[in-house]
Amino acid sequence: MDAAKFLPVLDLSGEVEELRGALLAACGRVLDSNAFILGAEVQAFEAAAADYLGVKHAVGVNSGTDALVLGLRALGIGPGDEVITTGFSFFATAGSIETVGARAVFVDIDADTFNIDPNCIEARITPSTRAIMPVHLYGQAAPMQAIRDIAERHDLKIIEDAAQAFGGEYRGRKLGSIGDVGAFSFYPTKNLGACGDAGLLVTNDDQVAQLARKLRDHGSERKYHHVTLGYNSRLDAIQAAVLQVKMPYIDTWNDARRAAARHYRELLGGIEGLVLPHEADYGRHVYHQYTLRIEDGRRSAVEEVLRAAGIGAVIYYPQTLPQAPVFAERRGAAAPLPVAEQACREVLSLPMHPRLTEEAQERVAMALRAAMCA
Ligand SMILES: *Cc1c(COP(=O)(O)O)cnc(C)c1O
Repeated sequence: MDAAKFLPVLDLSGEVEELRGALLAACGRVLDSNAFILGAEVQAFEAAAADYLGVKHAVGVNSGTDALVLGLRALGIGPGDEVITTGFSFFATAGSIETVGARAVFVDIDADTFNIDPNCIEARITPSTRAIMPVHLYGQAAPMQAIRDIAERHDLKIIEDAAQAFGGEYRGRKLGSIGDVGAFSFYPTKNLGACGDAGLLVTNDDQVAQLARKLRDHGSERKYHHVTLGYNSRLDAIQAAVLQVKMPYIDTWNDARRAAARHYRELLGGIEGLVLPHEADYGRHVYHQYTLRIEDGRRSAVEEVLRAAGIGAVIYYPQTLPQAPVFAERRGAAAPLPVAEQACREVLSLPMHPRLTEEAQERVAMALRAAMCA
């Protein structure tokens, strides 16, 4: 390999460069307004996001984690309740459930899509189960119809963790708009990212939206009138202004990610021991991550070759959620998650973003092919 520049998994510099003028103007507008939290900028972003996602209400909050926490609280979920979720996700999925005092019950995943396996859900339902929290992992829809059927049969709520999937779709519907509540993260590395922490809760339920709006502002309906215990989880005007600049590009950016995924497929097809991402036929995968499997215990060797070639690659995620030390006490009672555990041993995410060049992808492919054939 040549001594080419390090190729990171995510490079935001092109996006910042392209939008610098518009972003500075948006931030200038906020400075001039002297209104830094909630207010007109946040309302304008909420309206634009609700329109794009096809939902009645969008509530801007501090982070994706808070969108999940407020969503759970707004649905009345708390101590004594159980929420069924995937065992394979970012920690915030489980953390949000436990933060409201409920218990996260983890189920295994589908080996092809890495998303929650609906066939594993019903066995874990108890009289305390109140909701299912599917995650649209890596930007690909969880199997929502099967999840909705189960939820309907058992009278459960659905909270979609759509933190990695802004603009993704399930059978023509935007992810996050299908369950009772959808939660988005605009952490800067997400496929729609702010310039700091930011999140959004969406719902078609008037009461849930109303309660979420109270919860984000210390449980108050109006100043000094606190009707419930809430949080400080208001969205900043600067972040809302930044997101208004970026959101109109999201379809173009997601299309560019999809094109890069197709190119990876051409470049990496037919390599033994390498399993490329599977696109379920029911949705529009937006490739927040391009995650493949490296079989037969060869992942760390491959990682080493990529590192030596100056190519970034990341493991999302190295352990299942129930393997987090915070859940150590309950490990004995938890169901085994063999498919998720195997994913933890095999997954590797390659460079993926809207401005990834074909040359860069060819560099990745050459190194990966060499590593797999070694
Ligand atoms: C990023 C992420 C979150 C949390 O979002 P923050 O904005 O970082 O709080 C939750 N769930 C998943 C699946 C995520 O990827």
